[in-house]
Amino acid sequence: MFCPQCGTNQSDELKFCKSCGANLYAVRQVVATRETDEKFDWSKTWVAEMFMSGEEAIRRKTEIERLQGITPEVKRYDEIKAGVITGCVGIGVMIFLYVLAEGIILGGRIPPHVTEIIRRLWVAGVIPLMVGIGLLVNGLFVSKKLVEMAKRQPQTKPDALEKGTAQHTLRPADTTEFVPSEFSVTEGTTKHLRSSGPKA
Ligand SMILES: [Zn+2]
Repeated sequence: MFCPQCGTNQSDELKFCKSCGANLYAVRQVVATRETDEKFDWSKTWVAEMFMSGEEAIRRKTEIERLQGITPEVKRYDEIKAGVITGCVGIGVMIFLYVLAEGIILGGRIPPHVTEIIRRLWVAGVIPLMVGIGLLVNGLFVSKKLVEMAKRQPQTKPDALEKGTAQHTLRPADTTEFVPSEFSVTEGTTKHLRSSGPKA
């Protein structure tokens, strides 16, 4: 191994560096524990992400969105907007295709079976129209419920969090209260603990 202090190549059996005296044993230990930590800390890997429950993933996503200022209300508004735009595009496509088809047919010289196909091309506009309607309905009715739910949640969430942290927060350790300062039968044995306590 290479000594981290002076960079010289040292034997793996050495406890201390021959050149600078650095504690190579301690270095090896740190490296070994760090390696095992990295190997088995699944919570930080993509594997954990993969196995993370859907609910947790959604919770994280909404939390990130909340931090970015994307509230359910904003999302609902965007959804309705997208619905109106997509629906209008659908109607526009239908009108365009209908007028175009009529023009082609009136232009003549097209076999009757092709005319029938061209005459129905405007139906393609139904796809964006239906997508738009879907977004609109979702924004108006489904997302409205989600917004209401999200409005109710923040009122209960911070409280619950505060209570939770308050319950789990311990006061700073004060070892003196465990050792009666004056009338103690263990006075003699705990003296050294008290004297070394604050340093540790
Ligand atoms: Zn060294």
